[in-house]
Amino acid sequence: MLRESLKNKQERMRRIIGRLYETYPNSKCSLEHRSPFQLLISTMLSAQCTDERVNKVTPELFKFYPTALAMAAAPVEHLAELVRSTGFFNSKSKNMSACAIMLMEQHGGEVPPDQDALVKLPGVGRKTANVVLGTGFHIPGVVVDTHVIRIGNLLRMTNQKDAVKIEFELQKIIEKEHWVMFTHLIIDHGRAVCIARRPQCHNCILAEYCPSVLPEEAVKKKK
Ligand code: SF4
Repeated sequence: MLRESLKNKQERMRRIIGRLYETYPNSKCSLEHRSPFQLLISTMLSAQCTDERVNKVTPELFKFYPTALAMAAAPVEHLAELVRSTGFFNSKSKNMSACAIMLMEQHGGEVPPDQDALVKLPGVGRKTANVVLGTGFHIPGVVVDTHVIRIGNLLRMTNQKDAVKIEFELQKIIEKEHWVMFTHLIIDHGRAVCIARRPQCHNCILAEYCPSVLPEEAVKKKK
């Protein structure tokens, strides 16, 4: 079995990240929010839903319930109605309510900048916790979403499908200062070029570093 050394992967990743920064200089979290609490709720809503759709419902949601204090007192039925179009609205609304109540009961209404505390909140897993820590508090973490799983495998930075295993692998490969931006950059690249089931390898700035580049497109690129 062919194995690439960690050192090689780190160097290849360094070049990949450099290209991504050049190509997506304005890359950032696409969930609109005004506080760590709103980011937390938006990230919970983004499960099985696009960020674009989440951004359509959150202005109305946060107009009624902008803080944990307000949301803890909200009728769950009203939360469900407001987030209906994001899918799985019954479980999402119950989690949002329970999460806001726990924030009030245990954290004085603040979102704790701590992964262990975050993952104890209802509906919050490692991915959501890392989004909140990285974007809300600038605490480094690698967020592993479907784009990172798919493109991380295409780039052969991992051969895992399990998000937690991939997170720990990527932490060894990516320099810590790029952990948070890496996910934003990969999401942008996944939306623009390395699209699921129809990657545009002929137009990809990562082609020379990507072992999955389509052979016929790689030939075109060399001409
Ligand atoms: S070369 Fe193709 S498979 Fe590799 S990252 Fe680019 S678009 Fe994706």
